Amino acid sequence: MLTKKEFMQARDRAVQMMRQAGIIITQKEIEEMDVADFGLNDLLVEGGQMLTFFNTSRVSAKVIALFPGQTLPEHWHTALGDDPGKEETIRVVWGILYFCQEGQDTLKMARIPKEKKNCYTARNERVMTPGDQITIEPGIKHWFQAGQEGTVMFSFSSSARDALDPFTDTNIVRVTKIID
Ligand code: ZN
Repeated sequence: MLTKKEFMQARDRAVQMMRQAGIIITQKEIEEMDVADFGLNDLLVEGGQMLTFFNTSRVSAKVIALFPGQTLPEHWHTALGDDPGKEETIRVVWGILYFCQEGQDTLKMARIPKEKKNCYTARNERVMTPGDQITIEPGIKHWFQAGQEGTVMFSFSSSARDALDPFTDTNIVRVTKIID
């Protein structure tokens, strides 16, 4: 749950970051930006700001801004009907990103949010800087966290049905409630 004020502040801040990264975004895209607290009521710790360029039945492109130290919670992309699940490529545009997925535990830089060890099981970490990119296969658990100055990244993928994605933290509600 976010108040309208918190939502607007986060949106404005994310817009500034995206523009600072050199990405051209339109007013219409800004108005449709998703500020997600994942129902955890702690946006600056666990959350994300996602702006969608397009999301057709086959492909999708987004920009994601994360504030300093903000963590996008661990999740994976499941199959649905004929779709084997979203394949996603993250490309860092600005700042540093700590990216973690399933695999050998190399976690060093990212900080798992307090008392949330069980919700962050993917510990194969990559430190990514602008120009770095990684492709995440369907079904692979992943999460990521911004470095000290925040980060801006592109997310290119097959069609996104993010509202259906499972999260390791079962308290998560993907659709954020905004109150007055
Ligand atoms: Zn994902």
